[in-house]
Amino acid sequence: MYTELSLFIDGKWLNGAGRKGEDVINPATGKALGALPHASKADLDAALEAAQKGFLVWKAMSAYDRSKILRKAADLLRERAERVATVQTLEQGKAFGESRIEVLTSADIIDWYAEEGRRAYGRIVPGRQKGVRQIVLQEPVGVVAAFTPWNFPTLTPVRKIAGALAAGCSIIIKASEETPGGCFELVKCFADAGVPAGVLNLVFGVPAEVSEHLIPSPLVKKISFTGSIPVGKHLAGLAAKGMKKATMELGGHSPVVVFADADPEKAADTIAAFKYRNAGQVCISPTRFYVQEASYSKFVARFTEYAKNIKLGDGLEKGTTMGPLANPRRLDAMESFVNDAKDRGGKIAAGGSRHGNQGFFFQPTVITDVPDDAKVMTEEPFGPLAPIVPFKTFDEVVERANALPFGLAAYAFTSSGATATAIGDAIQSGMVGVNSVAISTPETPFGGIKESGYGSEGGIEGLTAYMNTKFISQG
Ligand code: NAD
Repeated sequence: MYTELSLFIDGKWLNGAGRKGEDVINPATGKALGALPHASKADLDAALEAAQKGFLVWKAMSAYDRSKILRKAADLLRERAERVATVQTLEQGKAFGESRIEVLTSADIIDWYAEEGRRAYGRIVPGRQKGVRQIVLQEPVGVVAAFTPWNFPTLTPVRKIAGALAAGCSIIIKASEETPGGCFELVKCFADAGVPAGVLNLVFGVPAEVSEHLIPSPLVKKISFTGSIPVGKHLAGLAAKGMKKATMELGGHSPVVVFADADPEKAADTIAAFKYRNAGQVCISPTRFYVQEASYSKFVARFTEYAKNIKLGDGLEKGTTMGPLANPRRLDAMESFVNDAKDRGGKIAAGGSRHGNQGFFFQPTVITDVPDDAKVMTEEPFGPLAPIVPFKTFDEVVERANALPFGLAAYAFTSSGATATAIGDAIQSGMVGVNSVAISTPETPFGGIKESGYGSEGGIEGLTAYMNTKFISQG
């Protein structure tokens, strides 16, 4: 059911022969699914050379022809959706229905970029003197090196691959070694759609060794990373040394503000479903819940009921609504968050501990009465934990919501138009969902501020991220 993993360099699939590697583990069972080869230094050099050669071929092709190939890749991914979603659930753990949506959304993202690549417009600026034509052009930056984490094996790589290819760049992607199959299947779709050799290369290895080899190469002109803040800061530093463009999609700690004029039960149903998606291992997952006093008990009761009704199990089993955590590191992290919260007076309204005796399962958890300086309120939990606390006034909740050094996503619920506008303006965050959780679509920019990173993926911003602006003054 899983897949035969390999590297993809210069249009060739390279298996494990003579290479180091590691096993990929099914988080629902703790057992090995398959063997992943690591790229050697010579493989990485081959990928760099291939990407440079591929860039020249791809850049020379018209945006129209590139678009046709990208559209074909999207169609292939849709045709293969059931299989790719199965591979993803096996390696990452998320419920199959979520995997399927992820794969289909990934195909939509390719389509969006396929179209948008044909609209990489420049402009003509009126000159100060007669006969002078001032032309502003958008050109692809060149070879891109991209690094993606384990929580969205297809969706995160596709944002980088489709953005780079639509702009006319080539790319070397190092996807997650823990969940490599989704990106492997995705790359296959692009290869089968006719992307020329060298334009798209897939490597795996020891993450620090691969990034420290690729980023300083003079052939690489742009870095894109999704992952944790400490690693993002390190890679941004490496990029800065070579004055290279970088997009950094890092962690957050998303506040949810529920005002008393919102329907507390409707808000609880909406945001609880969003909270436990992928067992909370989502960078825009809601992670700190502030509920205005008058609605607090109703909201907590409904949210807790939702958490208790979640069916925890193997993501491939029918009826499962939440799968295991992706790796044992997350289990240890959850226990540490919960113990710290309890030590500080927090009460466990639902869950709070591991589940079962195989795999990496942790119960959907609700914590109340926890102070603002508890670990779960200040560090990104990246798991199925929902701390819920009351607040009194608008100004107080804005101050508490903005108190952390992160700014990726935020959510608010209110029935007042004036409050909706005011909270949207007041929250320091790259994305704000007001009475909505739809903040991640192919057509809209996705990215954070403060320590959550810089740059956006998606929308027109996701294309310009891979382009240089050139000005030509023609007399
Ligand atoms: P980690 O910091 O070890 O790794 C995060 C990701 O970066 C992984 O995919 C890893 O392979 C990669 N990575 C690590 N060192 C690297 C390097 N030197 N060069 C290139 N890539 C490197 O943490 P983890 O245990 O995998 O995850 C823990 C935390 O990471 C989570 O709590 C969460 O805050 C964050 N995270 C964020 C996202 C996101 O979508 N923004 C995704 C996954 C993890």
